[in-house]
Amino acid sequence: MKTTKRKQRLTLLVLRDAQHSVKQIHLSKPLMIAVPAAAILSIAGLIVTLQIQSAHSISELEQQLTLKSLEALKMEVTVTDKDEAIERLNKAILQLSGEAEQTKAQMERVQQLEQELQQFIQKHGSLSGQTSSIPGGAKEHVGGEFIAVHENELLGVAKDAQDDFEEIQQLISRMERHIPRTLDQAQETQEKREGMPSLWPTTSKRLTSNFGYRSDPFTGRSAYHAGIDIAGKTGDPVYAAGAGVVTVAERSGARGLYIVVQHPNGLETWYMHLSKLDVLVGDHVGQGETIGKLGSSGRSTGPHLHFQVVKNNQTIDPMPYLN
Ligand SMILES: [Zn+2]
Repeated sequence: MKTTKRKQRLTLLVLRDAQHSVKQIHLSKPLMIAVPAAAILSIAGLIVTLQIQSAHSISELEQQLTLKSLEALKMEVTVTDKDEAIERLNKAILQLSGEAEQTKAQMERVQQLEQELQQFIQKHGSLSGQTSSIPGGAKEHVGGEFIAVHENELLGVAKDAQDDFEEIQQLISRMERHIPRTLDQAQETQEKREGMPSLWPTTSKRLTSNFGYRSDPFTGRSAYHAGIDIAGKTGDPVYAAGAGVVTVAERSGARGLYIVVQHPNGLETWYMHLSKLDVLVGDHVGQGETIGKLGSSGRSTGPHLHFQVVKNNQTIDPMPYLN
C-alpha cells in the first residue's frame, strides 16, 4: 500500500497480486486526519471508562471489606457477650445448686424435729393412738460447697439442683399436711396432761385417811370414804390438781365450803371443808392454781382437805393420779 500526495486529495493505491490490477482510492485530506483521530479518541474514551469502572469497583470492594470487618467485629462482640452470659449462667446454676442443698438440709432438719415431736406425743400422750409418722424417712444429706470443675458437668449440676428442688417441694407438701395435725395432737396432749388431776393439792403431804372403807371418825362404824384426807393448817392454799372448769363453788352441809373442778376425760376433782373459796362457778383454772383455802367447814374433826376424784360419776382412788 502506498499513498500519493496531490493538491487537496490523497490517493490510496491498493496492490494485491499479479492477476489483479492496482486499485486507486481517492480520499480528501481532512478525512484522512479525522479517521485516526476518531480512533484515538474512542480508545482514549474506552480507557477512561475502564479506569472509572475499575475505580468504582475498587471503591465497592473497599466498602464491602469495611462492612465485612464490621460484621466480624460484631461477631466477636457477640461471642464475647455469649461467653459472659454463659459464665454468669454457670455461676447462677452453681449458686442455685448450693442453695438447693442447704434448703434441703434445713427442710430435713425441720422434718426431723417434727418426727421428734411425734415421738414425744406418742411417749407422753396417752391419746387415741392416731399419731402418724412421716413416710419416707430423711435421707443422709450433708451441706457444704459444691465445686464444679468442668463446664460440661454443669448440666449434671443443674439437673441435681432441679431434683433437689423437686424433693424440697415434696418435703414442703408433706410437712404442710403433717405439721398442723402434729401441732393439734401436741396441743391436745398438753391439754390432757394439764387436765389430768395429777398435782398434789396442798402444801402438806401428810395423809390422814385413805380412800375406801374405814371406821367413821364420828360414829366409829364402818363407812366408805370417797376420797383422801390431807392434814394441814387453816388458811393453807388449796391447788387445782389439774386444769379445768369450776362447776361447783358453794357451801353444803357435811361438805362445808367445797369446790368441784371438771377436767377432760370425764374426770372431776372435789375439794371439801375449805375455809375460803377463791373461784366462782365457770372459772377456768390452771393446774396448780390456788382455788381456795384449807379449813374445817362441814362434817370435819379438824383442819384438813378432803380430796376426791370422780370419773364418769363414780368416785375412784385419787392416789394413782397424784404424782
Ligand atoms: Zn374425807
